[in-house]
Amino acid sequence: MKIRSTFTLLIFAAISIAANAQNKVKNVIFMIGDGMGLSQAYAAQTHKGEQLTLFQFPYVGLVSTYSANNYITDSAAAGTAISSGVKTNNGIIGITPDSLHHTVSVMEIAKQKGLATGIGVTCTVTHATPAAYYAHQINRGMNEEIASDLLLSNIDICIGGGRNYFEDRTDKKNLSNLLRERGYDVVYNLEEATNTSNKRIIGLLADGELPTISENRGNMLPQTTGLILNKLDKDNKNGFFVMIEGSQIDWGGHANNEQYIINETIDFDNAVKIAVDFAKKDGNTLVIVTADHETGGMTLAGGNIENKIVDSKFSTGNHTATPVPVYTFGPGAENFTGYFDNTEFKDKIIHLLDLESKRR
Ligand code: MG
Ligand code: ZN
Repeated sequence: MKIRSTFTLLIFAAISIAANAQNKVKNVIFMIGDGMGLSQAYAAQTHKGEQLTLFQFPYVGLVSTYSANNYITDSAAAGTAISSGVKTNNGIIGITPDSLHHTVSVMEIAKQKGLATGIGVTCTVTHATPAAYYAHQINRGMNEEIASDLLLSNIDICIGGGRNYFEDRTDKKNLSNLLRERGYDVVYNLEEATNTSNKRIIGLLADGELPTISENRGNMLPQTTGLILNKLDKDNKNGFFVMIEGSQIDWGGHANNEQYIINETIDFDNAVKIAVDFAKKDGNTLVIVTADHETGGMTLAGGNIENKIVDSKFSTGNHTATPVPVYTFGPGAENFTGYFDNTEFKDKIIHLLDLESKRR
């Protein structure tokens, strides 16, 4: 009897392990800390005095970031490589380096296949990283053209800054009204976004860029992350693809400002925590956290864990070529280890979401 029940227990354990291993990926949350190399993350952890959520992820890999025309990428080329699997020249959004062909992003494919899609960022929604998921423009500075691409993208939820590119334009069009005609709620604060029952939302929370954490951004990014995940998960049998960006870690890097970097990285990690909590409850959600490149050539030349201080040195006011870490959690997470190129994300995600075969 005793042997038998032990045996039954073993079978049970084996079945549940097998079931776990086969957990399908229904949702992907792709999180980009712009300019967040290893030093940025470890500085944030040292300052916080406790382990960052991203350092608790079970799988870690390394990603090369060079662009088609430069050893050191910018966010436009890196965003295009990460989203679309194609290396292009610095400055280009979603177009091949010969400027002849539009690339196709994982978000565009997900939308075609009936998944819900969302973007949440702490820069303007037209900035290079988010734009790489839905826009096709030869220059990242073409914010008004990129805003027009968002209108055509059919994205479900997009939240960030940049209201002026929609409502105060050289062509005098009011894109917010055009978005409303397409069934969106265009809102100007997170409260409105939370309160609407509409699942199609464009949130333009500032005229231009959003404030920094040390100004008064509060927990906008973690809140936006939770809002997007909860809205898109509701009555959704097809799943979703969501991109969340800690956009301003990069700006702290350009400014060689240690405190700016630390504040923005901790804020981004708080958003990562929201994503992981969702994924733990859901069981079919893959969370990928990475960077598009490192910014500042930041090194931790000294510091003290007990006193929670770091002594940062910077080698440049620009980006660097150093490969960036990728941290993954959830079903399929084991596919992002080792050393690989940033163009490999797209196919891995398409395969894990089974988008090759899925029909609308
Ligand atoms: Mg960015
Ligand atoms: Zn940058």
